[in-house]
Amino acid sequence: METTALDIELSDELRAMRDAVRRFTERELGPWAEEIDRTGEIPAGLIELMQKNGYCGMRLPAEYGGGGLSLFQYCIALEEFSRLHRAFTIAANYSSGMTPMAITRHGTAAQKEKYLRGFAAGKLKSAFALTEPEAGSDAAGMRTRAEKNAKGWILNGRKHYISGGHVADVIMVMAVTDPDKRARGGITAFLLDRGTPGFSVTRVDTTIATDSIKLAELTFENCQLPADAVIGEVGAGFKVAMGSLNDGRMSVSCSCVGAAESLLERSTEHAKVRRTFGKLLAERQAIQWMLADSAVDIAAARALCYDVLRRLEKGDNVGSAGSMCKLFASEMVGRVADRAVQIHGGMGVIRGFPVERFYRDVRHYRVGEGASEIQRIVISRDLLRGVKIAD
Ligand SMILES: Cc1cc2nc3c(=O)[nH]c(=O)nc-3n(C[C@H](O)[C@H](O)[C@H](O)COP(=O)(O)OP(=O)(O)OC[C@H]3O[C@@H](n4cnc5c(N)ncnc54)[C@H](O)[C@@H]3O)c2cc1C
Repeated sequence: METTALDIELSDELRAMRDAVRRFTERELGPWAEEIDRTGEIPAGLIELMQKNGYCGMRLPAEYGGGGLSLFQYCIALEEFSRLHRAFTIAANYSSGMTPMAITRHGTAAQKEKYLRGFAAGKLKSAFALTEPEAGSDAAGMRTRAEKNAKGWILNGRKHYISGGHVADVIMVMAVTDPDKRARGGITAFLLDRGTPGFSVTRVDTTIATDSIKLAELTFENCQLPADAVIGEVGAGFKVAMGSLNDGRMSVSCSCVGAAESLLERSTEHAKVRRTFGKLLAERQAIQWMLADSAVDIAAARALCYDVLRRLEKGDNVGSAGSMCKLFASEMVGRVADRAVQIHGGMGVIRGFPVERFYRDVRHYRVGEGASEIQRIVISRDLLRGVKIAD
């Protein structure tokens, strides 16, 4: 009989959905993971396959061809994808990430009609452009400027580290519209279409992680945007961006849980077959303790994330709990990946071996979508204001 140490409650509906994504990932995505590693690209054929199976526009409303999934359901899907390869979560975010969700929440009827069907059909990819060379953690310090003119808005500035910015068809760009107000009503979110005159991708960086994750530098030089490129209210862009980041923190957290679980499974299997000095690694207490510590880490992260997702689904105000999830899960997967490399020995650092790729991939999570230090600032701000951790 199979024993499960913890039964972190999932509704029947969520469990069925998770099992379906797991079957799809195990049966269909393996060859794509190999191609992604070989080419360093996210292939068009993968997006087509995801679209045919209902994994494009997962979170978008059904009336636009989307899957209508809740944030919890979407996070469960990303957790499953992450068990195999981080690139599948990037592919999912093209059509269900921060920009598609901002359009769903704040877009006009015309904006929804223009973009949402394209995301759900797997024809459009999105990116989200907040960070600048002089404004990362301190996003409100951005310099990109949008000024009103007779035709709409004229955009000037530069963004960098924008995931998928080099392939995106539509980019949500945050720009200062009132320098005196900045984060307090002076930043506006704009939708910019690829090919808009004055917009160019001026650099593409690869990182420590899988080459399929590329970060783009985007430059805007007298880039003319129509008046209806504004998303949400003029001056409400910082709120739009922060709302998107709250979702992003939860999806990153669950991606960390999925990656960590995959690393623990690989480590456990390896310990059961690798012999040193006449005994299996699994018989050594030093190795058993590493496995145990990883299991506890993962269970704690999953319980925290699911609890917060469940409360978000009920409409609760969770305060800084999303930051707690992001902080704990991203640091947790770093520890688990480090132990996994150690348990695999030399094999754990050989290029092309999955554990090595996971180790590099998960390092991103402590920096993107608000680095660990920023999450700590958010959490401690709540504590110092007297917010209780639990009732
Ligand atoms: C893989 C990846 C994908 C990304 N994708 C996107 C994207 O799609 N769109 C986008 O807009 N941006 C994206 N980013 C950018 C990301 O949001 C920023 O890198 C992040 O916010 C940190 O900003 P920074 O790099 O300028 O570092 P800095 O802000 O310069 O921070 C450097 C270090 O100092 C710490 N620090 C900063 N301020 C404080 C403080 N007050 N107290 C203590 N410590 C502090 C930070 O935590 C960090 O460790 C991505 C980054 C990565 C790594």
